[in-house]
Amino acid sequence: MSVNIEFFQKISNELNLKNVKLIAVSKTKSEKDIMLLYSEGQRIFGENKVQEMLSKAESLPKDIKWHLIGHLQTNKVKYIVEFVSMVHSIDSLKLLLEIDRQAQKYNRAINCLLQFHIATEESKFGLNLEEANDLLNAEAFKSLKNIRICGVMGMASFSDDNALIRGEFRNLKNIYQRIKDAFFLEDDAFCEISMGMSGDFEIATSEGSSMVRIGSLLFGQR
Ligand SMILES: *Cc1c(COP(=O)(O)O)cnc(C)c1O
Repeated sequence: MSVNIEFFQKISNELNLKNVKLIAVSKTKSEKDIMLLYSEGQRIFGENKVQEMLSKAESLPKDIKWHLIGHLQTNKVKYIVEFVSMVHSIDSLKLLLEIDRQAQKYNRAINCLLQFHIATEESKFGLNLEEANDLLNAEAFKSLKNIRICGVMGMASFSDDNALIRGEFRNLKNIYQRIKDAFFLEDDAFCEISMGMSGDFEIATSEGSSMVRIGSLLFGQR
């Protein structure tokens, strides 16, 4: 069996004690596998593709909180706003504007994290601090009513250099604090740092993450 129930029980207890939320990353995994963790009490699942999240959300229990952790194209926003619990991958004002526009139809405020590019590797996705400042200062941003910015998200380099990874997580924590101080000091909703995956979640939690996104250690290799 590929789902590691024993690891799940151990890690969810440990994270609970640290007040860190566990996002069980179920991308490519079956509904049956998801239900195995659901019956152990897990309610937050992470997916990186809109279509896959949509079809799973349709057939699985309605109290599951679905987190979109992968890149989101503006033309797909309309498929998820009705039910998505959090979008971790906000990387443009354009995307926020579209989420706001679609969310109005359902009278919802969508929980969003700003994704930062913290790794050394080239990546198309993720903001830097200057881009985030520009976004949060934009007049168009200030008028949005159907989005809720809840914090930041980032992925460390794919590396076995623990010092490098630790430095990248520390950088994300600093970014979080600077944005908190500049824009969200009075806003308790801005409190999340989504960092840490199967290979680096221990480093991430020791650097202050509030959410970890763990896939392969729970569900087996993809
Ligand atoms: C796949 C994925 C994860 C989980 O990765 P694992 O190494 O399997 O734990 C976490 N975050 C994002 C953004 C992902 O795409």
